[in-house]
Order: sequence, then structure tokens, then C-alpha cells
Amino acid sequence: MTHTPADSRTIAERRSAILEELAAAAKAGGRASADVTLVAVSKKQSEARIEDALAAGQRVFGENRVQEAQARWQQRREHYPDLELRLVGPLQTNKAEHAVALFDVIETLDREKLARAILKAMDKTGRSPRLYVQVNTGEEAQKAGIAPKDVPAFVAEMRALMPQGIEGLMCIPPVEEPASLHFALLGKLAKAAGVEKLSMGMSADYALAARLGATSVRVGSALFGEREG
Ligand SMILES: *Cc1c(COP(=O)(O)O)cnc(C)c1O
Repeated sequence: MTHTPADSRTIAERRSAILEELAAAAKAGGRASADVTLVAVSKKQSEARIEDALAAGQRVFGENRVQEAQARWQQRREHYPDLELRLVGPLQTNKAEHAVALFDVIETLDREKLARAILKAMDKTGRSPRLYVQVNTGEEAQKAGIAPKDVPAFVAEMRALMPQGIEGLMCIPPVEEPASLHFALLGKLAKAAGVEKLSMGMSADYALAARLGATSVRVGSALFGEREG
């Protein structure tokens, strides 16, 4: 692991700094600071770091694997009733029931078959997670998500199928392209589809995303430090 001067700050200090940047960026984009939620992406982080984040007041967490998230959060949940857990990684239909049982938000809905599995799991568990549609804004072959041109029809289809509707759109821009283009595209697609929320921006570009309309940013390493393993 490399040690940069930033590593000497505590998680609480980093969190405060990130929240300040988000507030300033939201303001610069003509919005209130409360309009941007910091989602702490805790995948592959140590228990000690998670505890530090909780102690600092962080309550919204993102995970990208169902099993890892269950191990980490199922018990803790009972001690933190105000916790909000978001699935930000791909979901297989055979894990839909576990995901629906644990997560408050699923950000990676991208196909009808998955929607039907979530629906079935909702029936079984009595839970109703908020849903985001993942958009493959860079149209990358290896990346999950709906193609931009298919967003209007897919959102309409999901609205008809899912009783809770669609809360937002989510994207993970290609690493080699300016993220701003993808953030702007996601905003445009959401507006056209009448979708309210935008999950975009990670450690490298959360402030930019907040300025361009993100309602939540998914920040891992900039908050917790480099991931282990
Ligand atoms: C890991 C992950 C993040 C956080 O990445 P950082 O660069 O560490 O902030 C955000 N979104 C998704 C979907 C991820 O898988």
C-alpha cells in the first residue's frame, strides 16, 4: 500500500472534507447542500474502518456483492436502525431474494428478468427496495446497464411492472473518457424519462458529479483509504 499525506487523516476528517466539497459543488450547481447524499462504498474495507465511519455519523453505505454485504451488515443493522444500504454492484437473479431482504436501494436494475426476480422476492420478504436503473452511458461491451437509447422504453416498462416505480438512474463512466460527458448524458436521460435521482460520481470525480446534478455519490477509497485485497 502506498502512503500519501492524505492517508494520515482520520475517516471522520476525510468525511467532513468530502461533505464540505459536496455542499460547495451542489451550491455551485444551483442546489442545496442537502440535495447530495454521500454513499460510503464499504466493499473490501476492514471492520475497523466501517466502525470509524459509523462513529463519524455515516449511515448510508454501498456494497457491490450480496454475500459480503450480508456478512457485514445483517447483524449491525439491528444496532443502527437508521442505516441505509445500497447495492451498487451487479445482481444475479438467484441472489435477488437475499438482496431484497437486505438492501434498501438496488441501483443496478438493468433487465426484465431481474425485475421479475426482485418482484418475486418482494412478495416473499414483504420488503420493497427503492430502484435505480443502471445505464451503460459509454456503451461498453463488458459493462452492465441499459444502452442510452433504450432508457425511455425500459423505464416505462419498469414503471408498469414494479409497484415502487423507478427512483433514479445510475452510471459508471468509462475510465478513459471525461466523466462530465457521461454525467451530463445521465442527467438528460433522467429528465426525459421523468426520473428524479442520479447516482453518479466516485472517489475521483464526486465533486464534479455533484456540480452536474448527482443526488448521490458513491465514494469508497477517498473516504476509507485504499481497499484491502
Ligand atoms: C467500488 C465502487 C465505487 C467506489 O469506488 P471508489 O473509486 O473507491 O470511490 C463506486 N461505485 C461502484 C459501482 C463501485 O463498484
